[in-house]
Amino acid sequence: MTTLHILHLYPKEMNLYGDHGNILTLKKRAEWRGFRVNVTEYHVGDQLPNHIDIIFGGGGQDSGQSKIEADLRAHATELKTLIEQGTPCLVVCGLYQLFGEYFQTGDGQKIAGINILPVQTVAGPKRLIGNIVINSPEFGEVVGYENHSGLTTLAPQAKPFGTVVSGAGNNGNDYTEGAFYKNCIGTYLHGPILPKNPRLADFLLLKALQRKDASIKKLAPLNDSIELHAHSVAAKRPR
Ligand code: GLN
Repeated sequence: MTTLHILHLYPKEMNLYGDHGNILTLKKRAEWRGFRVNVTEYHVGDQLPNHIDIIFGGGGQDSGQSKIEADLRAHATELKTLIEQGTPCLVVCGLYQLFGEYFQTGDGQKIAGINILPVQTVAGPKRLIGNIVINSPEFGEVVGYENHSGLTTLAPQAKPFGTVVSGAGNNGNDYTEGAFYKNCIGTYLHGPILPKNPRLADFLLLKALQRKDASIKKLAPLNDSIELHAHSVAAKRPR
């Protein structure tokens, strides 16, 4: 039986607004299709496990980002290699920012990132809070919840995750949301994002499985009526 190895980065410091639900979603959707799942919770000071099929990291307060900064940077090369090789990855808000170049906090502290995603983030004058709906070329309508001070700018060559329909996204200004590089998605969408956006969850699972067995073309369908109902309720909620 195939086992999928999920790496959950810094669940103590980087876990806001239900982010842990993304791990549960990946696990259940894989198990419902008969795969075994192994989740490694990675903490500051640990060694990265030998097998990593999917990388996930959530959001965190500025203080949490400072706590993990040095440790994350110590693993920058290993994580970058995995992403370059096509390992699927989802990083939300605080870790999205730190998978980029840096996050400069409101008091001017610059927290260095690991430069995988071509983005830079500087805290703005007010927090951007509320429900958000975006349109992604790959996944259609994606819904979530955002709460960040950081204003993120994409490098000119960067591809956003989607276009903002309602909400703020990367910076509240240019209608971009998130970043997409290889199979790595950085996004501001908490909520958590995956339970309400099953296509995105399945993208991560399928990419992971295809790296193990290239003959796998698609995943067995699941009954997503509850997930899609949650999606449409969230999409209609005012900010
Ligand atoms: N501390 C960062 C910010 O405010 C990230 C917040 C988050 O992860 N929700 O921009």
